[in-house]
Amino acid sequence: MEQVAIKEELSKMLGQEKVLTENLDLMYYSYDSSFLTKLKPATPDAVVFPRSTEDVQQVMKFAWNNNINIIPRGAGTGETGGCIAIEGGIVMDLSTWSDIEEIDAMNMQVIVRPGVIHADLNNELAKYNLFFPPDPGSSKMCTIGGMVANNASGLRAVKYWSTEPYILGLEVVMPNGEVITTGGMKARTIKNVSGINLTKLMVGSEGILGIITRIRIRCIPKPSARGIAMAVFDNLDDAPATVLEVYQAGILPSGIEILDSSAIHAVNDFKPEINLPNAEAILLFEVDGNPPSVEYEGQVIKEVAGKRAREVEWSTDPVRMTQLWEGRSVTATAAARVRPDGTRIFAGEDISIPISRVADTLRAIRSLGKKYGIQIVNYGHIGDGNVHSAPVINPENPEEVERVLKLVHEIHLLAIEMGGTTTGEHGVGAVRRSYAELEHGLAVEYMKRIKKAFDPHGIMNPGKVF
Ligand SMILES: Cc1cc2nc3c(=O)[nH]c(=O)nc-3n(C[C@H](O)[C@H](O)[C@H](O)COP(=O)(O)OP(=O)(O)OC[C@H]3O[C@@H](n4cnc5c(N)ncnc54)[C@H](O)[C@@H]3O)c2cc1C
Repeated sequence: MEQVAIKEELSKMLGQEKVLTENLDLMYYSYDSSFLTKLKPATPDAVVFPRSTEDVQQVMKFAWNNNINIIPRGAGTGETGGCIAIEGGIVMDLSTWSDIEEIDAMNMQVIVRPGVIHADLNNELAKYNLFFPPDPGSSKMCTIGGMVANNASGLRAVKYWSTEPYILGLEVVMPNGEVITTGGMKARTIKNVSGINLTKLMVGSEGILGIITRIRIRCIPKPSARGIAMAVFDNLDDAPATVLEVYQAGILPSGIEILDSSAIHAVNDFKPEINLPNAEAILLFEVDGNPPSVEYEGQVIKEVAGKRAREVEWSTDPVRMTQLWEGRSVTATAAARVRPDGTRIFAGEDISIPISRVADTLRAIRSLGKKYGIQIVNYGHIGDGNVHSAPVINPENPEEVERVLKLVHEIHLLAIEMGGTTTGEHGVGAVRRSYAELEHGLAVEYMKRIKKAFDPHGIMNPGKVF
Protein backbone atom coordinates (compact mmCIF):
# COMPACT_ATOMS: atom_id res chain seq x y z
CA MET A 1 0.00 0.00 0.00
CA GLU A 2 1.28 3.51 -0.89
CA GLN A 3 2.53 5.67 1.99
CA VAL A 4 0.03 8.43 1.08
CA ALA A 5 -2.86 5.98 1.34
CA ILE A 6 -1.54 4.60 4.65
CA LYS A 7 -1.35 8.14 6.04
CA GLU A 8 -4.88 8.93 4.90
CA GLU A 9 -6.35 5.78 6.44
CA LEU A 10 -4.49 6.14 9.73
CA SER A 11 -5.42 9.82 10.03
CA LYS A 12 -9.09 8.98 9.42
CA MET A 13 -8.90 6.37 12.17
CA LEU A 14 -6.91 8.17 14.85
CA GLY A 15 -6.91 11.85 13.89
CA GLN A 16 -3.96 13.57 12.18
CA GLU A 17 -2.25 14.49 15.47
CA LYS A 18 -1.63 10.81 16.24
CA VAL A 19 0.10 10.03 12.91
CA LEU A 20 3.56 10.92 11.53
CA THR A 21 4.64 10.41 7.93
CA GLU A 22 7.09 13.27 7.26
CA ASN A 23 10.58 11.96 6.44
CA LEU A 24 12.29 14.10 9.06
CA ASP A 25 9.97 12.75 11.78
CA LEU A 26 10.35 9.18 10.58
CA MET A 27 14.15 9.39 10.69
CA TYR A 28 13.99 9.69 14.47
CA TYR A 29 12.33 6.26 14.52
CA SER A 30 15.07 4.60 12.48
CA TYR A 31 17.33 4.19 15.56
CA ASP A 32 17.33 2.71 19.01
CA SER A 33 20.41 2.45 21.26
CA SER A 34 22.01 -0.43 19.35
CA PHE A 35 25.13 -0.13 17.22
CA LEU A 36 23.30 -2.04 14.48
CA THR A 37 20.86 0.82 13.89
CA LYS A 38 23.74 3.32 13.75
CA LEU A 39 25.15 1.17 10.94
CA LYS A 40 21.84 0.42 9.23
CA PRO A 41 19.07 2.81 10.28
CA ALA A 42 15.66 1.76 8.92
CA THR A 43 12.85 4.26 8.46
CA PRO A 44 9.23 3.18 8.96
CA ASP A 45 6.41 4.13 6.56
CA ALA A 46 4.46 5.80 9.37
CA VAL A 47 4.38 6.25 13.13
CA VAL A 48 1.20 6.20 15.21
CA PHE A 49 0.53 7.23 18.82
CA PRO A 50 -2.42 5.19 20.12
CA ARG A 51 -3.98 6.34 23.39
CA SER A 52 -6.56 3.61 23.92
CA THR A 53 -7.04 -0.11 23.39
CA GLU A 54 -9.55 0.78 20.65
CA ASP A 55 -6.91 2.90 18.85
CA VAL A 56 -4.52 -0.07 18.90
CA GLN A 57 -7.27 -2.44 17.71
CA GLN A 58 -8.18 -0.21 14.77
CA VAL A 59 -4.56 0.07 13.61
CA MET A 60 -4.01 -3.68 14.02
CA LYS A 61 -7.13 -4.56 12.00
CA PHE A 62 -6.04 -2.16 9.27
CA ALA A 63 -2.54 -3.67 9.22
CA TRP A 64 -3.94 -7.22 9.27
CA ASN A 65 -6.29 -6.55 6.35
CA ASN A 66 -3.58 -4.87 4.28
CA ASN A 67 -0.62 -7.04 5.27
CA ILE A 68 1.37 -4.16 6.76
CA ASN A 69 4.04 -4.74 9.42
CA ILE A 70 3.51 -3.34 12.91
CA ILE A 71 6.47 -2.56 15.16
CA PRO A 72 5.72 -1.70 18.79
CA ARG A 73 8.00 0.86 20.42
CA GLY A 74 8.40 2.16 23.95
CA ALA A 75 11.17 4.67 24.61
CA GLY A 76 13.63 3.19 22.07
CA THR A 77 16.31 2.54 24.74
CA GLY A 78 16.65 -1.09 23.58
CA GLU A 79 20.13 -2.25 22.50
CA THR A 80 18.99 -4.75 19.86
CA GLY A 81 17.14 -2.90 17.08
CA GLY A 82 13.97 -4.51 18.50
CA CYS A 83 11.67 -1.52 17.91
CA ILE A 84 12.98 -0.72 14.41
CA ALA A 85 11.02 -1.29 11.19
CA ILE A 86 13.84 -3.22 9.52
CA GLU A 87 11.37 -4.63 6.97
CA GLY A 88 9.24 -1.46 6.78
CA GLY A 89 5.78 -0.90 8.25
CA ILE A 90 4.07 1.19 10.92
CA VAL A 91 5.84 1.93 14.20
CA MET A 92 3.39 2.04 17.09
CA ASP A 93 4.88 4.49 19.61
CA LEU A 94 3.33 3.64 22.97
CA SER A 95 5.47 6.02 25.04
CA THR A 96 2.84 8.76 25.27
CA TRP A 97 0.22 6.37 26.68
CA SER A 98 1.46 6.63 30.24
CA ASP A 99 -1.46 6.38 32.65
CA ILE A 100 -1.07 4.73 36.01
CA GLU A 101 -4.68 3.54 36.11
CA GLU A 102 -4.89 2.16 39.61
CA ILE A 103 -2.65 1.68 42.62
CA ASP A 104 -4.21 -1.01 44.80
CA ALA A 105 -1.80 -0.55 47.72
CA MET A 106 -3.80 -2.86 49.99
CA ASN A 107 -3.38 -5.78 47.57
CA MET A 108 0.14 -4.65 46.58
CA GLN A 109 -0.51 -4.26 42.86
CA VAL A 110 -0.80 -1.57 40.25
CA ILE A 111 -2.33 -1.37 36.77
CA VAL A 112 -0.53 0.71 34.15
CA ARG A 113 -0.68 1.49 30.46
CA PRO A 114 2.48 0.58 28.51
CA GLY A 115 4.12 4.02 28.24
CA VAL A 116 4.68 4.63 31.97
CA ILE A 117 8.37 5.30 32.68
CA HIS A 118 9.89 2.87 35.18
CA ALA A 119 11.29 5.54 37.54
CA ASP A 120 7.98 7.45 37.50
CA LEU A 121 6.12 4.32 38.58
CA ASN A 122 8.51 3.72 41.47
CA ASN A 123 8.23 7.37 42.55
CA GLU A 124 4.45 6.92 42.76
CA LEU A 125 4.70 3.56 44.53
CA ALA A 126 7.14 5.02 47.10
CA LYS A 127 4.22 7.08 48.47
CA TYR A 128 2.71 3.75 49.60
CA ASN A 129 6.03 2.29 50.77
CA LEU A 130 5.96 -0.13 47.82
CA PHE A 131 8.27 -0.73 44.86
CA PHE A 132 8.61 -2.64 41.58
CA PRO A 133 12.14 -4.06 42.04
CA PRO A 134 13.66 -4.62 38.55
CA ASP A 135 15.92 -1.62 37.98
CA PRO A 136 17.43 -1.22 34.52
CA GLY A 137 20.15 1.39 34.13
CA SER A 138 17.67 3.09 31.77
CA SER A 139 15.06 3.42 34.56
CA LYS A 140 14.49 7.15 33.97
CA MET A 141 13.85 6.59 30.24
CA CYS A 142 12.46 3.13 29.51
CA THR A 143 8.76 2.24 29.53
CA ILE A 144 7.06 -0.52 31.48
CA GLY A 145 5.74 -1.91 28.15
CA GLY A 146 9.33 -2.13 26.85
CA MET A 147 10.47 -3.76 30.10
CA VAL A 148 7.72 -6.39 29.90
CA ALA A 149 8.42 -7.05 26.21
CA ASN A 150 12.15 -7.49 26.95
CA ASN A 151 11.83 -9.05 30.42
CA ALA A 152 14.26 -6.37 31.56
CA SER A 153 16.25 -6.59 34.77
CA GLY A 154 19.35 -4.84 36.10
CA LEU A 155 21.42 -4.36 39.22
CA ARG A 156 19.01 -5.93 41.69
CA ALA A 157 18.25 -9.12 39.73
CA VAL A 158 20.46 -11.09 42.14
CA LYS A 159 17.80 -10.90 44.85
CA TYR A 160 14.69 -9.68 43.03
CA TRP A 161 15.08 -11.32 39.61
CA SER A 162 13.72 -9.77 36.41
CA THR A 163 10.41 -8.17 35.34
CA GLU A 164 8.67 -11.50 34.71
CA PRO A 165 7.79 -12.65 38.26
CA TYR A 166 6.09 -9.31 38.94
CA ILE A 167 3.68 -9.42 36.00
CA LEU A 168 0.34 -10.70 37.24
CA GLY A 169 -1.59 -10.25 34.02
CA LEU A 170 -1.75 -8.44 30.70
CA GLU A 171 -4.14 -7.05 28.16
CA VAL A 172 -2.82 -7.78 24.68
CA VAL A 173 -4.09 -6.70 21.27
CA MET A 174 -3.45 -9.59 18.91
CA PRO A 175 -2.24 -9.09 15.32
CA ASN A 176 -5.83 -9.59 14.00
CA GLY A 177 -7.14 -6.87 16.32
CA GLU A 178 -8.74 -9.17 18.92
CA VAL A 179 -8.14 -8.29 22.56
CA ILE A 180 -7.19 -10.95 25.10
CA THR A 181 -6.46 -10.74 28.81
CA THR A 182 -3.91 -13.11 30.31
CA GLY A 183 -3.31 -14.46 33.82
CA GLY A 184 -4.63 -12.23 36.57
CA MET A 185 -5.55 -9.20 34.44
CA LYS A 186 -9.14 -9.58 35.60
CA ALA A 187 -8.44 -11.28 38.95
CA ARG A 188 -6.97 -9.33 41.84
CA THR A 189 -4.89 -12.22 43.19
CA ILE A 190 -1.17 -12.67 43.61
CA LYS A 191 -1.27 -16.42 42.94
CA ASN A 192 -2.94 -17.77 39.81
CA VAL A 193 -2.23 -21.07 38.05
CA SER A 194 -5.40 -21.16 36.00
CA GLY A 195 -4.80 -22.02 32.34
CA ILE A 196 -1.68 -22.12 30.16
CA ASN A 197 0.52 -19.25 31.29
CA LEU A 198 0.21 -16.80 28.40
CA THR A 199 1.48 -13.98 30.61
CA LYS A 200 4.83 -15.75 30.89
CA LEU A 201 4.84 -16.31 27.13
CA MET A 202 4.22 -12.63 26.40
CA VAL A 203 6.89 -11.39 28.85
CA GLY A 204 10.13 -11.33 26.89
CA SER A 205 8.42 -11.92 23.53
CA GLU A 206 9.99 -8.71 22.19
CA GLY A 207 6.94 -7.41 20.36
CA ILE A 208 6.61 -10.33 17.95
CA LEU A 209 3.33 -11.79 19.31
CA GLY A 210 1.06 -8.82 20.04
CA ILE A 211 0.81 -5.34 21.52
CA ILE A 212 0.84 -5.13 25.33
CA THR A 213 -1.71 -2.48 26.21
CA ARG A 214 -2.35 -2.90 29.93
CA ILE A 215 -0.20 -4.42 32.66
CA ARG A 216 -1.06 -5.57 36.17
CA ILE A 217 2.11 -5.51 38.27
CA ARG A 218 2.81 -7.00 41.64
CA CYS A 219 4.74 -4.64 43.93
CA ILE A 220 6.45 -5.44 47.21
CA PRO A 221 7.25 -3.53 50.41
CA LYS A 222 10.20 -1.18 50.06
CA PRO A 223 13.16 -2.21 52.26
CA SER A 224 13.88 0.32 55.01
CA ALA A 225 17.67 0.00 55.09
CA ARG A 226 20.60 -0.42 52.73
CA GLY A 227 24.34 -0.92 52.94
CA ILE A 228 27.27 -1.10 50.52
CA ALA A 229 30.49 -3.10 50.69
CA MET A 230 33.44 -2.53 48.39
CA ALA A 231 36.10 -5.25 48.05
CA VAL A 232 39.36 -4.77 46.12
CA PHE A 233 41.17 -7.74 44.53
CA ASP A 234 44.69 -8.19 43.14
CA ASN A 235 43.73 -11.49 41.56
CA LEU A 236 40.81 -11.63 39.11
CA ASP A 237 39.87 -15.22 40.08
CA ASP A 238 39.26 -14.11 43.66
CA ALA A 239 36.33 -11.89 42.63
CA PRO A 240 33.89 -14.61 41.40
CA ALA A 241 35.19 -16.99 44.08
CA THR A 242 34.20 -14.42 46.72
CA VAL A 243 30.73 -13.97 45.20
CA LEU A 244 30.15 -17.73 45.46
CA GLU A 245 31.50 -17.83 49.02
CA VAL A 246 29.14 -15.03 50.07
CA TYR A 247 26.21 -17.09 48.75
CA GLN A 248 27.55 -20.18 50.51
CA ALA A 249 27.61 -18.16 53.75
CA GLY A 250 23.83 -17.79 53.36
CA ILE A 251 23.79 -14.17 52.22
CA LEU A 252 21.83 -12.99 49.17
CA PRO A 253 22.74 -9.35 48.49
CA SER A 254 20.34 -7.27 46.36
CA GLY A 255 23.15 -6.61 43.86
CA ILE A 256 26.78 -7.55 43.23
CA GLU A 257 28.68 -5.58 40.59
CA ILE A 258 32.16 -6.01 39.16
CA LEU A 259 34.56 -3.53 37.60
CA ASP A 260 37.65 -5.19 36.16
CA SER A 261 40.97 -3.35 35.65
CA SER A 262 39.79 -1.90 32.31
CA ALA A 263 36.74 -0.31 33.96
CA ILE A 264 38.77 0.90 36.97
CA HIS A 265 41.16 2.74 34.62
CA ALA A 266 38.28 4.14 32.57
CA VAL A 267 36.60 5.54 35.70
CA ASN A 268 39.82 7.05 37.10
CA ASP A 269 40.67 8.67 33.74
CA PHE A 270 37.15 10.07 33.42
CA LYS A 271 36.86 11.38 37.00
CA PRO A 272 40.23 11.27 38.81
CA GLU A 273 38.60 12.50 42.04
CA ILE A 274 36.76 9.15 42.37
CA ASN A 275 40.22 7.60 42.72
CA LEU A 276 39.31 3.91 42.67
CA PRO A 277 42.11 1.68 43.98
CA ASN A 278 44.28 0.21 41.22
CA ALA A 279 43.40 -3.48 41.16
CA GLU A 280 42.53 -6.46 38.98
CA ALA A 281 38.89 -6.21 40.09
CA ILE A 282 36.56 -4.37 42.44
CA LEU A 283 33.32 -5.88 43.74
CA LEU A 284 30.43 -3.81 45.05
CA PHE A 285 27.83 -5.55 47.18
CA GLU A 286 24.48 -3.90 47.86
CA VAL A 287 22.47 -5.29 50.76
CA ASP A 288 18.91 -4.24 51.65
CA GLY A 289 16.33 -5.17 54.28
CA ASN A 290 15.73 -3.94 57.82
CA PRO A 291 18.57 -2.24 59.77
CA PRO A 292 19.70 -5.22 61.95
CA SER A 293 19.61 -7.70 59.04
CA VAL A 294 21.49 -5.29 56.78
CA GLU A 295 24.19 -4.79 59.42
CA TYR A 296 24.48 -8.54 60.01
CA GLU A 297 24.74 -9.34 56.30
CA GLY A 298 27.26 -6.54 55.77
CA GLN A 299 29.49 -7.94 58.52
CA VAL A 300 29.34 -11.45 57.01
CA ILE A 301 30.25 -10.07 53.57
CA LYS A 302 33.15 -8.14 55.12
CA GLU A 303 34.45 -11.25 56.81
CA VAL A 304 34.04 -13.54 53.78
CA ALA A 305 35.43 -11.05 51.25
CA GLY A 306 38.30 -10.22 53.63
CA LYS A 307 39.75 -13.70 53.14
CA ARG A 308 40.71 -12.91 49.54
CA ALA A 309 40.45 -9.15 49.08
CA ARG A 310 43.28 -6.65 49.56
CA GLU A 311 40.82 -4.35 51.32
CA VAL A 312 37.13 -4.34 52.16
CA GLU A 313 34.99 -1.43 53.30
CA TRP A 314 31.41 -1.71 54.55
CA SER A 315 29.15 1.28 55.11
CA THR A 316 25.53 2.17 55.84
CA ASP A 317 26.24 5.91 55.90
CA PRO A 318 24.29 7.47 52.97
CA VAL A 319 27.10 9.86 51.97
CA ARG A 320 29.78 7.17 52.06
CA MET A 321 27.53 4.70 50.21
CA THR A 322 27.12 7.20 47.37
CA GLN A 323 30.91 7.63 47.24
CA LEU A 324 31.52 3.88 47.18
CA TRP A 325 28.95 3.41 44.42
CA GLU A 326 30.06 6.41 42.35
CA GLY A 327 32.66 4.48 40.35
CA ARG A 328 30.01 2.01 39.22
CA SER A 329 27.44 4.68 38.48
CA VAL A 330 29.77 6.49 36.03
CA THR A 331 31.28 3.37 34.40
CA ALA A 332 29.11 3.44 31.26
CA THR A 333 29.86 7.13 30.67
CA ALA A 334 33.55 6.61 31.47
CA ALA A 335 33.71 3.76 28.94
CA ALA A 336 32.44 6.13 26.24
CA ARG A 337 35.34 8.54 26.97
CA VAL A 338 38.41 6.30 27.03
CA ARG A 339 39.37 7.31 23.50
CA PRO A 340 39.14 10.91 22.28
CA ASP A 341 38.42 9.85 18.69
CA GLY A 342 36.02 7.05 19.57
CA THR A 343 33.07 5.96 21.62
CA ARG A 344 31.66 2.94 23.36
CA ILE A 345 29.23 0.93 21.23
CA PHE A 346 26.36 -1.34 22.27
CA ALA A 347 27.26 -4.61 20.53
CA GLY A 348 28.17 -7.91 22.18
CA GLU A 349 27.46 -6.06 25.39
CA ASP A 350 25.17 -8.43 27.27
CA ILE A 351 26.54 -11.95 27.61
CA SER A 352 25.68 -13.99 30.68
CA ILE A 353 27.80 -16.87 31.93
CA PRO A 354 28.00 -19.08 35.02
CA ILE A 355 29.57 -17.10 37.88
CA SER A 356 32.31 -19.72 38.19
CA ARG A 357 33.41 -18.92 34.59
CA VAL A 358 33.46 -15.11 34.89
CA ALA A 359 37.23 -14.76 35.38
CA ASP A 360 38.04 -17.09 32.45
CA THR A 361 35.51 -15.24 30.29
CA LEU A 362 36.94 -11.81 31.13
CA ARG A 363 40.46 -13.04 30.35
CA ALA A 364 39.24 -14.48 27.04
CA ILE A 365 37.50 -11.19 26.17
CA ARG A 366 40.74 -9.31 26.88
CA SER A 367 42.60 -11.67 24.52
CA LEU A 368 39.96 -11.14 21.84
CA GLY A 369 40.36 -7.38 22.29
CA LYS A 370 44.12 -7.77 21.67
CA LYS A 371 43.53 -10.09 18.69
CA TYR A 372 41.32 -7.50 16.98
CA GLY A 373 43.15 -4.42 18.29
CA ILE A 374 40.01 -3.10 20.03
CA GLN A 375 39.89 -1.61 23.51
CA ILE A 376 37.16 -3.15 25.71
CA VAL A 377 35.83 -1.96 29.07
CA ASN A 378 34.36 -4.76 31.21
CA TYR A 379 31.89 -4.35 34.05
CA GLY A 380 28.52 -5.81 34.99
CA HIS A 381 26.22 -7.73 37.23
CA ILE A 382 28.58 -10.49 38.44
CA GLY A 383 26.02 -11.59 41.03
CA ASP A 384 24.08 -13.29 38.20
CA GLY A 385 26.96 -13.67 35.73
CA ASN A 386 25.76 -10.90 33.39
CA VAL A 387 28.85 -9.17 31.97
CA HIS A 388 28.69 -5.92 30.02
CA SER A 389 31.67 -5.61 27.67
CA ALA A 390 31.95 -2.23 26.03
CA PRO A 391 34.04 -2.15 22.83
CA VAL A 392 35.39 1.34 22.18
CA ILE A 393 35.86 2.25 18.52
CA ASN A 394 35.77 5.06 16.02
CA PRO A 395 32.45 4.24 14.29
CA GLU A 396 33.42 6.42 11.33
CA ASN A 397 36.29 4.07 10.47
CA PRO A 398 34.87 1.24 8.27
CA GLU A 399 37.90 -0.99 8.79
CA GLU A 400 37.53 -0.70 12.55
CA VAL A 401 33.79 -1.42 12.27
CA GLU A 402 34.57 -4.58 10.32
CA ARG A 403 37.02 -5.67 13.03
CA VAL A 404 34.61 -4.98 15.89
CA LEU A 405 31.82 -6.99 14.26
CA LYS A 406 34.16 -10.00 14.10
CA LEU A 407 35.12 -9.42 17.73
CA VAL A 408 31.48 -9.23 18.83
CA HIS A 409 30.70 -12.48 17.01
CA GLU A 410 33.54 -14.19 18.89
CA ILE A 411 32.29 -12.78 22.22
CA HIS A 412 28.85 -14.28 21.54
CA LEU A 413 30.35 -17.67 20.64
CA LEU A 414 32.54 -17.48 23.75
CA ALA A 415 29.48 -16.97 25.95
CA ILE A 416 27.81 -20.09 24.56
CA GLU A 417 31.06 -22.07 24.87
CA MET A 418 31.30 -21.03 28.54
CA GLY A 419 27.86 -22.52 29.20
CA GLY A 420 26.15 -19.14 29.00
CA THR A 421 23.96 -17.12 26.67
CA THR A 422 24.42 -14.22 24.25
CA THR A 423 22.01 -12.07 26.25
CA GLY A 424 21.24 -11.88 29.95
CA GLU A 425 18.81 -8.96 29.89
CA HIS A 426 18.89 -6.79 26.74
CA GLY A 427 17.23 -9.35 24.46
CA VAL A 428 17.75 -10.75 20.98
CA GLY A 429 15.98 -8.32 18.64
CA ALA A 430 17.65 -8.07 15.26
CA VAL A 431 21.23 -8.23 16.51
CA ARG A 432 21.44 -11.70 18.07
CA ARG A 433 18.86 -13.70 16.13
CA SER A 434 21.52 -15.54 14.14
CA TYR A 435 22.46 -17.40 17.37
CA ALA A 436 18.93 -18.76 17.96
CA GLU A 437 19.62 -22.24 16.53
CA LEU A 438 22.95 -22.49 18.30
CA GLU A 439 21.40 -21.61 21.65
CA HIS A 440 18.05 -23.41 21.38
CA GLY A 441 18.29 -26.07 18.64
CA LEU A 442 14.99 -27.72 17.80
CA ALA A 443 13.15 -25.50 20.28
CA VAL A 444 13.39 -22.68 17.71
CA GLU A 445 10.97 -24.64 15.48
CA TYR A 446 8.46 -24.68 18.35
CA MET A 447 9.00 -20.95 18.92
CA LYS A 448 8.21 -20.40 15.24
CA ARG A 449 5.01 -22.45 15.55
CA ILE A 450 3.89 -20.36 18.52
CA LYS A 451 4.62 -17.22 16.51
CA LYS A 452 2.57 -18.58 13.60
CA ALA A 453 -0.37 -19.41 15.87
CA PHE A 454 -0.41 -15.85 17.21
CA ASP A 455 0.56 -14.07 14.01
CA PRO A 456 -0.20 -16.21 10.93
CA HIS A 457 0.39 -13.28 8.51
CA GLY A 458 3.82 -12.52 10.07
CA ILE A 459 3.10 -8.81 10.47
CA MET A 460 4.23 -8.41 14.11
CA ASN A 461 7.72 -6.99 14.32
CA PRO A 462 9.32 -9.17 11.60
CA GLY A 463 13.05 -9.85 11.47
CA LYS A 464 13.47 -10.20 15.23
CA VAL A 465 14.29 -12.98 17.73
CA PHE A 466 14.78 -15.89 15.27
C1 LIG B 1 21.80 3.47 29.26
C2 LIG B 1 21.03 2.19 29.15
C3 LIG B 1 21.04 1.30 30.21
C4 LIG B 1 20.31 0.11 30.13
N1 LIG B 1 20.34 -0.74 31.20
C5 LIG B 1 19.60 -1.87 31.16
C6 LIG B 1 19.60 -2.75 32.29
O1 LIG B 1 20.25 -2.53 33.29
N2 LIG B 1 18.81 -3.86 32.21
C7 LIG B 1 18.06 -4.14 31.10
O2 LIG B 1 17.34 -5.16 31.09
N3 LIG B 1 18.07 -3.33 30.02
C8 LIG B 1 18.80 -2.20 30.03
N4 LIG B 1 18.82 -1.38 28.93
C9 LIG B 1 18.05 -1.77 27.72
C10 LIG B 1 16.61 -1.19 27.64
O3 LIG B 1 16.52 0.00 28.37
C11 LIG B 1 15.57 -2.18 28.16
O4 LIG B 1 15.51 -3.31 27.33
C12 LIG B 1 14.15 -1.58 28.22
O5 LIG B 1 13.29 -2.51 28.79
C13 LIG B 1 13.59 -1.15 26.87
O6 LIG B 1 12.45 -0.34 27.11
P1 LIG B 1 11.93 0.70 26.00
O7 LIG B 1 10.68 1.31 26.53
O8 LIG B 1 13.01 1.65 25.65
O9 LIG B 1 11.62 -0.28 24.81
P2 LIG B 1 12.01 -0.19 23.25
O10 LIG B 1 13.49 -0.11 23.11
O11 LIG B 1 11.21 0.87 22.62
O12 LIG B 1 11.50 -1.60 22.76
C14 LIG B 1 12.12 -2.78 23.19
C15 LIG B 1 11.37 -3.99 22.65
O13 LIG B 1 10.08 -4.08 23.24
C16 LIG B 1 9.05 -4.09 22.25
N5 LIG B 1 7.93 -3.33 22.84
C17 LIG B 1 7.98 -2.11 23.42
N6 LIG B 1 6.78 -1.78 23.92
C18 LIG B 1 5.95 -2.82 23.66
C19 LIG B 1 4.56 -3.08 23.91
N7 LIG B 1 3.78 -2.23 24.59
N8 LIG B 1 4.04 -4.25 23.46
C20 LIG B 1 4.79 -5.16 22.80
N9 LIG B 1 6.10 -4.96 22.54
C21 LIG B 1 6.67 -3.81 22.96
C22 LIG B 1 9.68 -3.45 21.03
O14 LIG B 1 9.07 -3.89 19.84
C23 LIG B 1 11.12 -3.94 21.15
O15 LIG B 1 11.21 -5.25 20.63
C24 LIG B 1 19.56 -0.19 28.96
C25 LIG B 1 19.53 0.71 27.90
C26 LIG B 1 20.27 1.89 27.99
C27 LIG B 1 20.23 2.86 26.83
